[in-house]
Amino acid sequence: MSDNGLNGVPVTGDFANGGLSFWYRQIGVPAQRPALPGSRDYDVAIVGGGYTGMWTAYYLKKAQPGLRIAILEREFAGFGASGRNGGWLSAEFAGSRERHAAARGRQAMIDLQHAMFTAVDEVIEVARAEGIDADIRKGGLIHVATNPAQDRRMRSNLAALRTWGFAEQDMRLLTAAELAGRIRIAGALSATYSPHCARIQPAKLALGLARVVSDLGVDLFEGTTVTEILPRTPGRAGRAAAVTDRGTVTAEYVIRATEGFTASIKGQHRQWLPMNSSMIVTEPLPDEVWERIGWQEYELLGDEAHAYCYAQRTADGRIAIGGRGVPYRYGSRTDVRGATQPQTVAALRKILTTLFPAAAEARIQHSWCGVLGVPRDWCSTVHLDHTTGLGWAGGYVGSGVTTTNLAGRTLRDLVLRRDTELTALPWVGRQVRQWEPEPLRWIGVQVIYSLFRAADRRETRMEGTSAYARLANLIAGR
Ligand SMILES: Cc1cc2nc3c(=O)[nH]c(=O)nc-3n(C[C@H](O)[C@H](O)[C@H](O)COP(=O)(O)OP(=O)(O)OC[C@H]3O[C@@H](n4cnc5c(N)ncnc54)[C@H](O)[C@@H]3O)c2cc1C
Repeated sequence: MSDNGLNGVPVTGDFANGGLSFWYRQIGVPAQRPALPGSRDYDVAIVGGGYTGMWTAYYLKKAQPGLRIAILEREFAGFGASGRNGGWLSAEFAGSRERHAAARGRQAMIDLQHAMFTAVDEVIEVARAEGIDADIRKGGLIHVATNPAQDRRMRSNLAALRTWGFAEQDMRLLTAAELAGRIRIAGALSATYSPHCARIQPAKLALGLARVVSDLGVDLFEGTTVTEILPRTPGRAGRAAAVTDRGTVTAEYVIRATEGFTASIKGQHRQWLPMNSSMIVTEPLPDEVWERIGWQEYELLGDEAHAYCYAQRTADGRIAIGGRGVPYRYGSRTDVRGATQPQTVAALRKILTTLFPAAAEARIQHSWCGVLGVPRDWCSTVHLDHTTGLGWAGGYVGSGVTTTNLAGRTLRDLVLRRDTELTALPWVGRQVRQWEPEPLRWIGVQVIYSLFRAADRRETRMEGTSAYARLANLIAGR
């Protein structure tokens, strides 16, 4: 997409057609750190320099400063979803609560939810303690219903959440009048509010973490592509290995932290489906527009549609809003440095101006997309196998900003063989079946999202949840 750039500066390179993310356009793309200089041995090798990899390195180094840790990153730390997301540092956790409870009991799932509440504050506290300024503002999370079907679904979801550890102070219903006192959204019927969420500038958190782990003595190698991850074998003196284009790193443990990019590693092609999510951001809105919209507390905002949207008010007074866009590329391909399609930009702009007619005149200054990882059962996982020396965390299905922190602390405890409250949580050590081969995978995702969109269209005219959505969830296996 074309525009005059940020503050009139011509747009070049990664940002010429949108791309990478507005967050990097704000602060600049960092210079790449040196690549792996050749084969090396470490105690722990981490593949992928996103939040998962960096939180894992951070907590391991804090617990045992003597550990030799390397992060192997294909581009630069924060290149992936961690530097492109919507900035919801939220306590939302991906996956079916019933499925987790079936594995480890209902209380274990409630413990997991409480661990997510705590993790929001943990990220805020570490950022403060480590001097990471990521525009963090804990204003809570609002979900809005804009038709009777969404309203009914929202109320029934809230009633269900009461049985899963959500007390009144964790999430409550807002009347239309209460919502209007916070944010004025066209057509809003009702909303829920949860205090467990903070607005962040994602790339600032990613670059801050990269600085902190480097200062702690973690070797962060960038421009280094891992092509294969190998289990322990007697032939390598019992070491696991990450094979790269720059040499092989052997280690006691190799942790895979590549989320939506996992399919590009040999043998991992059908593990986590790279689901696309796209975003647009407006120019800074004038004061009179903000007076009409409200949104003074910087709450994060989402809707109750099946093909839902998510939004934030940025620190410099813009609206950034995201949604699914083109959901999936054939063969688990990923985007080219965040470039997104014109039809996705148009669709997101329509959602923006429908929710906020006051922003109808606002120019869209940037658009981009990224991939998040979706496991076959849509439930996140953290895992470490002491026999093979291999571990991983991910499959956050779009709720990874906070969950990655929980993953990092859990992987620390698993690597250090500590039995803790974290290692007893039900998302630890799950085995998930693989996705179907192509073309079934592509057809399945197209059908699922066509049904979700059809359900959203039908629900503008009906009272309850559309059968199309139920069918989509059935096919998805959620
Ligand atoms: C547009 C968008 C909006 C989102 N909004 C939100 C939100 O508001 N809130 C929320 O909770 N979640 C959100 N998410 C999801 C969240 O951002 C991710 O779940 C989270 O950032 C995942 O972090 P990660 O470290 O596991 O993966 P990533 O950040 O994707 O990091 C993986 C890293 O691995 C590197 N890599 C890939 N392949 C290789 C290889 N072969 N060798 C070496 N390195 C490799 C990549 O370059 C990348 O840096 C969003 C995602 C997207 C795409």
